[in-house]
Amino acid sequence: MANLKNEITILGSGTSTGIPMLGCQCSVCQSQEVKNRRLRTSILIKTKKDMHILIDTSVDLRTQFLNNNITRVDMAFITHDHADHCHGIDDLRPLCFGPPATSIPIFTHQQCAKSLALKFPYIFKAHELFNKERPPLGGGIPKLTLHTVDISSKIKYLGEEFEFLLLEHGYTKTLGIIHENFAYIIDCHEISDAQIDRLREKELDLLIIDCVTDQEHKTHLSRDKAFGYIERISPKKAGLIHMNHNLEHEKLLQDAQDHFSFPVFPVFDTQHITY
Ligand SMILES: [Zn+2]
Ligand SMILES: [Zn+2]
Repeated sequence: MANLKNEITILGSGTSTGIPMLGCQCSVCQSQEVKNRRLRTSILIKTKKDMHILIDTSVDLRTQFLNNNITRVDMAFITHDHADHCHGIDDLRPLCFGPPATSIPIFTHQQCAKSLALKFPYIFKAHELFNKERPPLGGGIPKLTLHTVDISSKIKYLGEEFEFLLLEHGYTKTLGIIHENFAYIIDCHEISDAQIDRLREKELDLLIIDCVTDQEHKTHLSRDKAFGYIERISPKKAGLIHMNHNLEHEKLLQDAQDHFSFPVFPVFDTQHITY
């Protein structure tokens, strides 16, 4: 079934604590506005060719799949190994059961692939832990195959083409992903001039970019830094993601509208955006 456009579903738009943050009495955490309720960051792309591509297995993944009626994932990217982006990986398990039983390919960068194998040996080193005499017992293991992407090359998978950026994120690196005229740039504290040039040359229809808080941050983009990069990359439209409780939805939307002459907006959970 072909679709006219690629469609993103925002599964989660919030920072690592989720919003509301447990125990917090601030006005955003206490807000009744549903757009201020943010699960941990992940998205799903339904492509024109009807491929279902997940980016990140957030700790809220099961709830996100239920909220958005998602029962199929054809491939997944994990951008980096921080808990909020990968500790929901086991929630892919029921999607592998079938029938027919299926295995989901997981793509990430080299450092993250190593880390995932260490964090989840029962998934990625199952051949070392289990054998005929010692089969896995209980509820089963998610059938996931780990693929390392070469940052400098394109990959083509299931008829979809992707390009990558390796972004600086504190002591670690994050995979930036480009699919057609969409770029997904999360969890980074800077974007290099060369990366900006590359993104600008893409003449993006949609950029979704890290925007964690209204203050300077060591591992993420602040609102002001994100605004500066959006200006330089100059997409047709831009979504802000991974917000913490310093950023109230309506206020951030207003700030973005005051600042830009093209659509820039905070994304929210269950939102659909096309490109
Ligand atoms: Zn994160
Ligand atoms: Zn709060």
